[in-house]
Amino acid sequence: MNRTILIVEDEPSIVTLLKYNLEQKGFLTDVAYNGEDGMERFKEKEYDLIVLDLMLPKMDGMAVCKSIRKINQQIPIIMLTAKDAEYDKIHGLEMGADDYLTKPFSPKELIARINAILRRTDETGIKQTSKLELGKLVIYPQKFEAFLKGELLELTRKEFELLVYLTQHKGEILSREQLLNSIWEFDFVGDSRIVDVQVSHLRDKIEEDTKKPLYIKTVRGFGYKMEDPT
Ligand code: CA
Repeated sequence: MNRTILIVEDEPSIVTLLKYNLEQKGFLTDVAYNGEDGMERFKEKEYDLIVLDLMLPKMDGMAVCKSIRKINQQIPIIMLTAKDAEYDKIHGLEMGADDYLTKPFSPKELIARINAILRRTDETGIKQTSKLELGKLVIYPQKFEAFLKGELLELTRKEFELLVYLTQHKGEILSREQLLNSIWEFDFVGDSRIVDVQVSHLRDKIEEDTKKPLYIKTVRGFGYKMEDPT
């Protein structure tokens, strides 16, 4: 079955390059040349992944990403940008993007990342477990659903993967690097703050008092540890 990827990008030369390379690898592609059109297409059809440029006419990539996440927390989004600022990288991931590529990038690199994300979506270890329970948390990895005290949590894909990983490794001290490698797969060298950002988001959603977390404990100078609060 062919995967369909939505490309939201306003530079025709990059669109041509992406389309060609993705189709070579057996992907189907749709293209939107501005943010509004990207949103329209996203609502019309089910895609397997979205490649989203940051600087777009009409509605920028951040706004598109945010709007998509309001509707769909799971669809993988890879952001493209000409900027190399750390701020944008962190901000993009905060808006719910799964990954980030700075222009100019090689199509090979993009395809490697797309495949990594899709592979994880398909067969991941996390999908083989049908139910995880910890304290008042109940997680159904296959359904991408997590409940706290019976209430469905609204989690982004990364938050969800982090929650599952932490829960599967409860009681273990996990370093930021280990979390980065397991959940983000490729190297964000020196960017372990991304882990802190996601942990803080997750705490906002599952902890009653984020200053005194009961589930995700900070192990000072090392990383994090998931505990059973009961
Ligand atoms: Ca652009």
